[in-house]
Amino acid sequence: MARLRVYELAKKLNMSPKELLQELEELGVSVKNHMSYIDEEMANIVIDLLEEDRRKRKEKQVKPAKKEEKEEKVIEEIEGGKRVEEKRKKITLKPDELKLDVLASKLGIPQTKIIQDLFVKRGLALRPGQILKLEEVREILKEYNVELALEEEEKVEEEVDEYELLEKRFQELYQKEKDKLAPRPPVVTIMGHVDHGKTTLLDRIRSSRVAEQEEGGITQSIGAYQVEVNGKKITFIDTPGHELFTEMRARGVQATDIVVLVVAADDGVMPQTIEAYNHAKAANVPVIVAINKIDKPNANVEKTKKELVEKLGLIPEDWGGDTVVVPISARTGQGVDELLEMILLVADMHEIKCYPTGPARAVIIESKLDNKMGPVASVIVKDGILKVGDAIVTSNTYGKVRNLYDDRMRPIRQAEPSQPVLILGFEDVPDVHSNVYVVENLEKAKAMVEKRLEKLEKQRQGRKHLNLEELLKMMQEREKKVLNLILKADTYGSVAALQNAIAKLQTKEIELNVVHTGVGEISTSDVMLAAAVDGVVLGFRVKVNSKARLLAEQEGVDVRTYTIIYKLVDDLKLALEGMLEPEEVEEVIGHGEIKKVFKIAKVGKVAGVQMTSGKADRNGFVRVYRNGQLVFEGRIESLKHYKEDVSVVEAPQECGIKFAGFEDIQEGDELEFYVVKQVKRKPTFLEEQKGGGSFHQ
Ligand code: GDP
Repeated sequence: MARLRVYELAKKLNMSPKELLQELEELGVSVKNHMSYIDEEMANIVIDLLEEDRRKRKEKQVKPAKKEEKEEKVIEEIEGGKRVEEKRKKITLKPDELKLDVLASKLGIPQTKIIQDLFVKRGLALRPGQILKLEEVREILKEYNVELALEEEEKVEEEVDEYELLEKRFQELYQKEKDKLAPRPPVVTIMGHVDHGKTTLLDRIRSSRVAEQEEGGITQSIGAYQVEVNGKKITFIDTPGHELFTEMRARGVQATDIVVLVVAADDGVMPQTIEAYNHAKAANVPVIVAINKIDKPNANVEKTKKELVEKLGLIPEDWGGDTVVVPISARTGQGVDELLEMILLVADMHEIKCYPTGPARAVIIESKLDNKMGPVASVIVKDGILKVGDAIVTSNTYGKVRNLYDDRMRPIRQAEPSQPVLILGFEDVPDVHSNVYVVENLEKAKAMVEKRLEKLEKQRQGRKHLNLEELLKMMQEREKKVLNLILKADTYGSVAALQNAIAKLQTKEIELNVVHTGVGEISTSDVMLAAAVDGVVLGFRVKVNSKARLLAEQEGVDVRTYTIIYKLVDDLKLALEGMLEPEEVEEVIGHGEIKKVFKIAKVGKVAGVQMTSGKADRNGFVRVYRNGQLVFEGRIESLKHYKEDVSVVEAPQECGIKFAGFEDIQEGDELEFYVVKQVKRKPTFLEEQKGGGSFHQ
């Protein structure tokens, strides 16, 4: 052993490169990444240290108890259709009661005290009688150690779609039972510019790895295939390009774990290379670059690498970055084995996991009505083992697995995580790109889907993606406000001008995030991307092609085109302004003094007040001061002039006031009346703040 790469050492130690990197860091050994070299001496020290460490941990280990039971419980709860969450019940609130004064009286704590406590202890500024957000209610309840049950929450649960709950269950399993997750083979999509060799590469990998035992060559594809490299499997999706990938994401499913971006060494980074990369990046999927066609005499690997840096910001590992770049020839097969090894390595690094036991989940990549076989779907199993005989549901249909075929159309009895498989036995053609889940039995599957379809039918009219204004409105509720934009323009110059103009619109409150830019008409792929990231498409001096227009309508994606740049900018500005929450401003409107305190049977204490200036507003607020000290702040319960209920009393009139939830009044108390006004806010454009410097995305 002379010199070892980190990932090679990881292999020896039977751990993932990521784990090893972490360990090395803890041991204070500085290495750059999994490709870095470690010398022999250091490697030996590391091995010793880790062995020692492992031994110690083993001694300490306590066996975790009752795991089985826990799992069963989760599944049982889901199967029941409703989550049997423990409900803590102390006080019950209806959603329209989420006002501070109402909450205060429910809690039996003066409103002013809540305001003070929450401000001092939790830095939360509240106003008397204000409508509270759920988090604010929770903060308040926490402060006074009170438990809350919201009636609203219960209602929501009843309406839960059982099909959607199945997905939620997996999300929860992934969160809660991390220790039960097991590695599964990576699923790879190949992307890149047209003619850069995506199909040739897919064919090369398949034929070199699969065809050996085959007699009649390669049978028809079921949409994906699996190969074995050094005893480990990799699944390739057979449709190259980012369209399928992004379409799936737009439908909320993701099959791909790793993207191989193919760039021809004789052509370099081209527009679709950039587009494909942006799609992968938006999905947060790791990218490996395969520089293809290195067998060609005019191939220039170095130049291509330079373009990766300049045009995509991807720095190859051998240049000190962390992008894995492998030069290959899909035609001769040179470098392809290394590419496959690198895929496994990146897969290791990203810890691609599944929930191996329990009912299966799979994602549909293709579906159709076959003349002989009926409705069929190609899926990639994501979790569990899918078996013949399983009852299954998808977003629109159900069935019982009658037959399963592997990627070479051989009948099989079961399929494991990451395995591509063709399913027969659906009642109807399943929606492509939805998930398939195994459920208890066929009756259950049928009931689940029928109920869902009924509900969906009702919702159909109203359902769509959001337009610009709606998106902005929705973001008001989120903490970090980001508006995703896809920009298309007639020339690169226009794109740059647009980006510049948009950069100037960055505000403190909302981030404008340009997900993708491109030259040329607005295409279906732009619309799909917008749908996937919940963004809008803005076009400048370009048209929307007819397919894209249709798709945008179907998906409800907002696509806007402009011919004048300032119109586009104005539109965005207006939308940004519209989404800022109005500021609440307090305005003092009058003063008065308590001259006498009346005690009225069944009503309680009422103050006889002399107005000294301005007016009192029945719908406004009041502060009561005694010897200059604030003793109450809150609402007016009733305002009377003589015996009449009135909404306003002006100085120098006298009036009778009953305060909401406050009776400790005395003669001589001074009153200050105020109202709270909502004032429209203007966004603060960073550019203006900085005084006009340039801003980079
Ligand atoms: P795709 O559009 O990205 O799927 O590209 P194809 O796989 O269809 O390849 C486009 C053309 O490039 C075809 O004529 C291929 O034979 C050729 N090609 C693909 N890979 C290589 C390669 O590694 N070397 C050479 N010389 N030609 C290649």
